Amino acid sequence: MVLTGGSLPTYHRAIMNEAERLPDEIRPWQLVQTDESISGHFCTRQMSRLRECLNTDSEIAVELVFGVDDAGTARIAGVVQAELELVCQRCLDPVVVPLNCKVGLALTRPGGKAGSPDSRYEALECGDESVSLLRLVEDELLLALPPFPKHGVNECSIPVEYRSSGQAEQPPKRNNPFAILRDGKNKH
Ligand SMILES: [Zn+2]
Repeated sequence: MVLTGGSLPTYHRAIMNEAERLPDEIRPWQLVQTDESISGHFCTRQMSRLRECLNTDSEIAVELVFGVDDAGTARIAGVVQAELELVCQRCLDPVVVPLNCKVGLALTRPGGKAGSPDSRYEALECGDESVSLLRLVEDELLLALPPFPKHGVNECSIPVEYRSSGQAEQPPKRNNPFAILRDGKNKH
């Protein structure tokens, strides 16, 4: 696996410098109290765990809103978006996978009630000290990564016919009801 993060074209670098830079650390409880919202960009170059899965570095757009919802839950809501270049598990060539992660985190105090009261949220346990925003965003992306990234059927350099030679992946017969499910998945 070759990482080419150091060789971004200069125009790309200029755009990234202009983009609003996110703080590495945040104090969630403080931001919730003041209904803060933050937006900006990270680069995968800063994320060692995620980077292990990538073919090359790319930019990550982050938009988060802090506050208390109607039910009184202190929460972080927003979205993390990226187009990550992964390795196709069929042909081993790079494949760009767009990710659009909805963020919904309910803050809980350490030792407080376990589990989020609202199914829309996952619990984020933290005290008044700062937490790593970088790590938080990286976690969201790691959870959203497809386990077997691959090209669409017509974009992969391994022809589809090849796959039918394997015992494990027989082409679906006509009228096979599972073919519909499979086609639906491929469109994803
Ligand atoms: Zn492929």
